Amino acid sequence: METMVYNFSAGPAMLPVEVMQQAQAEFRDFHGLGVSVMELSHRGADYMAVAAQAEQDLRDLMRIPDNYKVLFLQGGGRGQFSAVALNLMGINAKADYITTGQWSKSAVSEAEKVGDVRILDGLTTAADGRQGLATSWALDSTAAYVHYCPNETIEGLEYHFVPDTGDVPLVADMSSTILSRPIDVSKFGIIYAGAQKNIGPSGLAVVIVREDLLNQACPQVPAIMDYAAMAKADSMLNTPPTYAWYLAGLVFQWLKRQGGLEVMGERNKTKAELLYNYVDASDFYRNEVHPSARSWMNIPFQLKDDGLNDAFLKEAKAEGLLALKGHRIVGGMRASLYNAMPIEGVQALVAFMDKFAKRNS
Ligand code: PLP
Repeated sequence: METMVYNFSAGPAMLPVEVMQQAQAEFRDFHGLGVSVMELSHRGADYMAVAAQAEQDLRDLMRIPDNYKVLFLQGGGRGQFSAVALNLMGINAKADYITTGQWSKSAVSEAEKVGDVRILDGLTTAADGRQGLATSWALDSTAAYVHYCPNETIEGLEYHFVPDTGDVPLVADMSSTILSRPIDVSKFGIIYAGAQKNIGPSGLAVVIVREDLLNQACPQVPAIMDYAAMAKADSMLNTPPTYAWYLAGLVFQWLKRQGGLEVMGERNKTKAELLYNYVDASDFYRNEVHPSARSWMNIPFQLKDDGLNDAFLKEAKAEGLLALKGHRIVGGMRASLYNAMPIEGVQALVAFMDKFAKRNS
């Protein structure tokens, strides 16, 4: 029997066990064809059906309106930092970027190569000194778009509301929060996400783009990043990452079997609360994010003595609790609780944390 291991990696992250088992079962013989899905031509009917089903399942799960295109592209989340700017700054080369952490700042650094970027600091400090998120910004009503990162994977900061940007299209880097709860897609101009957290293997990026935004690209946009060209070619202008797209499709089917995003949202909230409540009640661990801005997906926490970090990680690993080391910028620990993490994994983590705290207090 396999030993149960819980992988708290921020990404590439844990995928649902059933998805991995299904992929394994059909790895060398896909649907009786005698070949792997990886070996199928992307232009053949068998693969086209896989691709179309994945798109339809994502549309169903997120209730994506018909006036949005869904693209399956390459280059991960960071590729989209460039693609967004190249696709939206051809006519009006200025954009507002709300910065709240490392990933939204990285998006700025790519957009600045393309146009005029105005940076809006989206961080606030609460009365108790904890980190929070601004709820209003001095936006430019003539900007081509407003970009933000709804969930900062490194700092563990998450918006629990959608910013109102009026008529200016809102662009969201949802890499680490997509599919974690229901959202109203119609509030966004573009939603994009690197796949390696809640979707599937790294390298793939999913882009959901409103059709009226497909006509303002810079002339120098590379064809594989050109949303209009890719939409016209059903994301198959060149050979797509076929296996990653197939695996994403298995994840979407798994999500449907779980009951969809309402059920996932409830589960994710419950999992996150379990860990935050334990940390808040403890004087051994702490989390420095204000409750209004705490991420359901990525939960950084510190031990009261940094000198115990190595022992914590080593003992956690021995109990099958993997990849808890925090990002080097934040230090301490980080538990990522994406969709594939069962509640039992969070319960096991809390039980271990409690034992560790008692032994070291
Ligand atoms: N945006 C966010 C919020 C992320 O968490 C990450 C990666 O972890 C990225 C972008 C970059 O994604 P990629 O490594 O696929 O380029």
